[in-house]
Amino acid sequence: MSRFFDPHIHMYSRTTDDYEAMSKAGIEVIVQPSFWLGSPRTSVGSFIDYWEHMISFESSRAKEYGIEHFVCISVNPKEAIERPLAVDAMKPMINFLNRDRVVAIGEIGYNLINELEEEIFIHHMEIAFEKDMLMMIHLPHENKKVGMEKIENIFVSGIGKKYDRNKILIDHNTEETIKKTLELGLWAGLSVYPHTKLSPQRAINIINENGSDKIMINSAADWGISDPLSVPLVAREMRMKSITRNEIEKVTFYNAYEFYKQSTKFTWKP
Ligand SMILES: [Zn+2]
Repeated sequence: MSRFFDPHIHMYSRTTDDYEAMSKAGIEVIVQPSFWLGSPRTSVGSFIDYWEHMISFESSRAKEYGIEHFVCISVNPKEAIERPLAVDAMKPMINFLNRDRVVAIGEIGYNLINELEEEIFIHHMEIAFEKDMLMMIHLPHENKKVGMEKIENIFVSGIGKKYDRNKILIDHNTEETIKKTLELGLWAGLSVYPHTKLSPQRAINIINENGSDKIMINSAADWGISDPLSVPLVAREMRMKSITRNEIEKVTFYNAYEFYKQSTKFTWKP
């Protein structure tokens, strides 16, 4: 049986039934980036409880279904404009970065694309650089091209010139951004999500056109109408189109593994 790695899934908002289905479908490893709670936070304590919950409770909940669970810690872009809360939360965040199972800083980046978000985004990236951690960057859901251009500017001519791009993953790519992500030498996530993100067919077209190197499929399952089985679903669609097993395994397992194993906290081995 094939095995799968979902490198972006928000299990905080999912049920144990989802774990059961994921486990049966062959999902063996998952990474859960920091997200928002579905409603606004009112204190720094809410971040602290959330990060602790993901590292401790969620890792053991996953384990009960034979799934290895790792975490990315951040103040999510959606919450970056809340001041002073976002800035205050970044102080206790530092301690969580040192914890077991915390394999990257993320998700970070732009949401509405403004200066407040950029300040928090760069602050996170500088911490990641100093601590030699992986970065998981989220592309905005609207104006992706503008978001990508801003990220490119930071990496090519801004403060990010010094960053090791092999340690950076850009997620939620589409046809509009994938070439730039790969050309910059970054890893690329494709989120397969009903209605609002990529369909399996669009993701497969992107892979056919750009090759399978450095590309990984994820579900980005969260509070929305999403599918925690997106990764095995894409693998099935690829099989039905007679795409080689090697290509399928790269985008549904090994590329995510190659990226995350760069973190010393990514302790799982196939
Ligand atoms: Zn997400």
